[in-house]
Amino acid sequence: MEEEEKMPQDLKEKFLNNILNDSDRLSRLINNILDFEKLSTGRQQLDIRRNNIKKTISKAISSIQHIASNKGIKIINEDDVDFEFDYDEDRILQVLTNLLSNAIKFTESNNGIISVDYILKEKNIEVYVRDNGNGIPDEDFKYIFDKFYQTSDQNTRKPQGSGLGLAISKQIIENHNGKIWAEKGKKVGATFGFKLPFN
Ligand code: ADP
Repeated sequence: MEEEEKMPQDLKEKFLNNILNDSDRLSRLINNILDFEKLSTGRQQLDIRRNNIKKTISKAISSIQHIASNKGIKIINEDDVDFEFDYDEDRILQVLTNLLSNAIKFTESNNGIISVDYILKEKNIEVYVRDNGNGIPDEDFKYIFDKFYQTSDQNTRKPQGSGLGLAISKQIIENHNGKIWAEKGKKVGATFGFKLPFN
């Protein structure tokens, strides 16, 4: 007790802040684990409705725009064609937000550019999120969609994360009978794509 009283106020605040940050990170991790489990065991039902992919992409970008702007990163989205089909909008937003936040995290401040585009191809819609950041090391490609996988040089490449974002995104896309992948052989940055079937 006496020791505690001797502790300077600013140090106390620092400790308290660390505890709060740790408990935030822990509760995000627990939520992600629960989410992943529900999705992979089929206990999470999709709420499939007719939605507009152009609007969903705009929503995802606006929800994350302030983080990109704070880092001086531009997000470009030039799609002007409205397209409607059936999907669970909250879940697709979750995938887009995860891809966008990874793109922001792995891209340098002030000269980062992220683009989001979509095309219709056969009976699928394909959505691409591209960045001009660090890119994905060749040895990581096989594993990035595995649960808990994070690149080995996390400290220099990325300060935080649970390694569940892409595993959850993969579950969501596969539960929609779609497919998600990262493109190989990029000279600059990373490109993630996913496709969803429509009828
Ligand atoms: P987390 O973001 O919590 O680390 P993810 O499952 O979202 O977990 O990502 C797994 C790993 O994939 C990351 O740790 C990183 O190594 C790699 N990765 C994901 N997105 C990108 C990107 N845009 N650029 C480079 N590497 C990426």
